[in-house]
Amino acid sequence: MGTHGVEEGHAGMALRILGAPRRYIQGPGAVAGLPEIVATLGTRPVLIADPVALDREGAPLPDATVLRFAGEITKAEIARLAEAAKAAGADVVVGMGGGKAIDSAKGVSRRLGAPIVVVPTVASNDAPTSRLIVVYDEHHTIVEVEMLASNPDVVLVDTAIVARAPRRLLAAGIGDCMSKTFEAHACAKAGGHNFFQGRTPLAALALADACYATIRRDGIAALAACDRQVPDEALENVVESAVLLSGLGFESGGLSLAHSLTRGLTAHPKLAGALHGELVAYGTLVQVAHEGMDEAGRADIAAFSRACGLPTRLADLGLAAPSDEDYAIIAGPTLAAPHMKHLSRPASLDSIVAALKAVEAS
Ligand SMILES: [Zn+2]
Repeated sequence: MGTHGVEEGHAGMALRILGAPRRYIQGPGAVAGLPEIVATLGTRPVLIADPVALDREGAPLPDATVLRFAGEITKAEIARLAEAAKAAGADVVVGMGGGKAIDSAKGVSRRLGAPIVVVPTVASNDAPTSRLIVVYDEHHTIVEVEMLASNPDVVLVDTAIVARAPRRLLAAGIGDCMSKTFEAHACAKAGGHNFFQGRTPLAALALADACYATIRRDGIAALAACDRQVPDEALENVVESAVLLSGLGFESGGLSLAHSLTRGLTAHPKLAGALHGELVAYGTLVQVAHEGMDEAGRADIAAFSRACGLPTRLADLGLAAPSDEDYAIIAGPTLAAPHMKHLSRPASLDSIVAALKAVEAS
């Protein structure tokens, strides 16, 4: 336990911690209930919306002040939106759109100390249920991760809206789901911390396992439903996996190599155009290679990825015939990521490059 006082003693107690939104609501037409839900939290709502979603779907809250998200979540953009929300006297924040618009709304909620309702219009990543606010600079590089004091008050997903979003975005959501079971178990085995500075509870492992089982069973059918733009049971299951199970799976389960690799991949200029979930799908293959999974197991995961249209090689992400220098650019920031401690064998620059090369060669 050591002699470093309360903090170390606290961590040494190995507390298991799980965090979640107070309520999660999902289904076709769910957004019709938004005014009633918002009315339980405040009287002067501000809607912070992605312009693409707003123009396609309209404002789901007739009496709200509407602020259009400008496209990149920077400190300056959060400050601009927070000023406007304050000027409108807002006492409850609603965030509508993809990950960056939602995180901007979280930033405004944090600055105003107001409750927040999150309305994802795509199921492309694991951001909506979490406390994390990922802030970028003008060059689209991550500069900081802020945290809400608590998870969002309500997360409301209208699957009729999600079904109208492009197929590539749902595929990316499936990609973000793929890693969670491998990362949560790796974090738990290593005795690592989740995003609440606690140990991984059994509940989070079960959620991460259910996330993976569901996308393997229903992922392909859900993408077909997305092509038809009509939600069905498979799409409902996969959207719940991509938003709820994946979100709780990472925040309470903990992360490992697959998400650490997104730091290295985004540091390479040729890979900057890929979606987060596409990078995570590829990162999953690298993690299981690093962890020593046999060839058949890895081939099975890669075949599923390919069937979803997700990348399985660096060439699929825009980097053909990677050189030693390319591998070095990717491996450096990956090794520096804090979740890299959550592995069954210690990682090094060489072990990361070897895993990358194993995926390229398979
Ligand atoms: Zn993710």
